[in-house]
Amino acid sequence: VSCDDGGVSDALEIPGWKHVYSGKVRDLYAPADTAEGAQPERMLVVASDRVSAFDVVLSPGIPGKGELLTTLSLWWFDQLAGGDGAEPVPNHLASEPVPEAVAGRAMVVRSLNMLPVECVVRGYITGSGWAEYQAEGTVCGIPLPAGLQNGDRLPEPIYTPAYKAPLGEHDENISYEKTVELVGDDHAAQLRDRSLEIYRRAAEAAEAKGLILADTKFEFGVDEAGVLRLADEVLTSDSSRYWDAAAWHAGTTPAERMASFDKQIVRDWLAAHWDKQGEPPALPSEIVEKTVARYRELLERMTA
Ligand code: ATP
Ligand code: MG
Repeated sequence: VSCDDGGVSDALEIPGWKHVYSGKVRDLYAPADTAEGAQPERMLVVASDRVSAFDVVLSPGIPGKGELLTTLSLWWFDQLAGGDGAEPVPNHLASEPVPEAVAGRAMVVRSLNMLPVECVVRGYITGSGWAEYQAEGTVCGIPLPAGLQNGDRLPEPIYTPAYKAPLGEHDENISYEKTVELVGDDHAAQLRDRSLEIYRRAAEAAEAKGLILADTKFEFGVDEAGVLRLADEVLTSDSSRYWDAAAWHAGTTPAERMASFDKQIVRDWLAAHWDKQGEPPALPSEIVEKTVARYRELLERMTA
C-alpha cells in the first residue's frame, strides 16, 4: 500500500486509523499503529461520493453514493457467502465494527494481495464490447455470432479480463493467456471460473427482481493462507450495468432497451459534453440527482 492519492482523496481523521491510499472512488486506511512499510492485517475501505467515468474523477460528487454502494456491496457479499443458498464465495470482509465517523459507507476488510486483473463478465453486448464487435466481430478477441444489436443478450456469458492499471492510467483489455502470465495458471483459471459462476448466480437473482445484470467487474485478492477472496466492491452500480428487464423486452431503440440504474447516465452526459481532452466539465445538478435516484432505486429493487 503506497501513499499515492493522485490528488483525489477526501482523507478523514478517523480515530485508530491512518489514511494510506486513495483510488478513484475509495479511500483506504490502515490501523494507526501499522509500522511504516508493513502490510497490515486489516484495512478500512471507505466509499466516497466521488464518481469516475472514462477513468477520470468528476466533480461534483454524487451525495449519498458511497453509502448506497456500500449497502449494495454488503448485501451481495452476504448473498454470495451463502445467503442465496448456493456454495459460499470467500470474501474480504472482517467482522470488526466500522468506526462511527464513516458508518454506513465503509467496510473493515482483510488486507489482501490484490491480483492485478479486473475480472469482467459480460452477458449482454454494449459499451466498449459493442464498439469492438462493430469493428471486428469480436469482444476482447472472442468471436461472436453475426447480426447482434447493441444491448443484445450473448449466447453465453463471456469472461473478458482487463489489466488493472495503476492510478492515472487506463485499464487495458487483455487475453486469458495474458492473465496466465500475470498471475499464473491456477489463479488465472480460478479467476475466470469463479467470475463466471458469480455472474450467473447474480444475474439469476437480478432477473427475479425484474433486473438485467448486463455486465460486471470483480476484483480478487489472496490472503496469507493462499485463499482467493472476492474483494473491493461487488455487483454495485459502479462496477456493473443493470437494466430494467421490462424496458429491455419492450424497447425498440438501444436507449429504451438499456434503461440503466448505473453510471451510464453520467457516461452518456459526459460523452456528449466532453471530447476527453483536458478537464472534464462539471456535472449539472439534474444529472447528479438523476444518478442518485437511480442508484437508490436499484438498491431498493434488488434488496426488496
Ligand atoms: P476503479 O475501481 O474506479 O477502477 P480504483 O480501482 O482506482 O478505481 P478504488 O476502487 O477507488 O480504486 O479503490 C479501492 C482500492 O482498494 C483498489 O485499488 C482495490 O484494488 C483495493 N482493495 C479493495 N479491497 C482490498 C483488500 N481487501 N485488500 C487490499 N486492497 C483492496
Ligand atoms: Mg476499484
